[in-house]
Amino acid sequence: MLHGRDDLRVEDVDEPEGEVLVSVEAATSCATDLKALRHGHLILGPYPARFGHETVGVRDDTGERVLVGDSVACGACVACLAGQTQLCTQMTWVLGGFAERIGAPVAALHAVPDGLEAAGAAMAEPLAAAVHAVARAGPAYDAAVLGGGTMGLMLARLLVLEGRDVTLCDRHPQRRAQAEAFGARAVQRLGHHELVMEAVGRPEAWRTAIEAAAPGGTVVLVGGCPAGSDVPLPSGPLHYAELDVRGAFHHTPAEVDRALALLASGDIDWRGFAGETVGLDELHDALVRPTAGEARKLVVDPQR
Ligand SMILES: [Zn+2]
Ligand SMILES: [Zn+2]
Repeated sequence: MLHGRDDLRVEDVDEPEGEVLVSVEAATSCATDLKALRHGHLILGPYPARFGHETVGVRDDTGERVLVGDSVACGACVACLAGQTQLCTQMTWVLGGFAERIGAPVAALHAVPDGLEAAGAAMAEPLAAAVHAVARAGPAYDAAVLGGGTMGLMLARLLVLEGRDVTLCDRHPQRRAQAEAFGARAVQRLGHHELVMEAVGRPEAWRTAIEAAAPGGTVVLVGGCPAGSDVPLPSGPLHYAELDVRGAFHHTPAEVDRALALLASGDIDWRGFAGETVGLDELHDALVRPTAGEARKLVVDPQR
């Protein structure tokens, strides 16, 4: 339970509420969890709050293995009625994967394909966001990704699978090596590219992404900047180079199923993103430990 900023406690609590109880097999962590721990997060709700949003487990009622999707759209707002459920203004967030059990609405659940391990299936949540971002990117052959964290690496791999020429930029040599293993070229500085996908989430990186776009190019902003950020952008390329700048946020249920299929087929090798496995007691220290080197996700096993 999160009791406040940087106040994470492992404690016995009442059974979670929800239409269905799911016994958690694995929950993976991402930068959003660290952000929530350090600074709080809009989607957490009031403290004490459950968290963890990339969760796979077994339904108590049917015994089925499921990915617990982190959100359910309302189906009735303007965005939902337009088919843009990722932009739902009345989203129900489903958090609490860092626990032995999580409660969820049935509408949040996705069947896990046979043979796909829990830790791999949990990564369908961030991968679905990458699938969504690539769908926003247009057809450019010459594609660049700025940032070699797990999101940047997932974007690069998806673009490679589509047969594009992919360059990933990151200052860490280990992350560049990961990108190369996924079939991308890796550099420390971008030239100019028809498509630039930003996966850092800092104002400077948004600017760098725009500066790296070729005339007439497309920039997709995937990394979320800290809440309330104002981002000064260079007007020259935006205007004279007719750049097309787009946001990308979240995913739809169909994109989650697509991500599960990509993980199950091995087209996306989830082991390339899997880091250390920790128990609930080790989660806090593992989350705040400074990361250098390879980009990998923590795997939380609540039975440990
Ligand atoms: Zn995440
Ligand atoms: Zn809605």
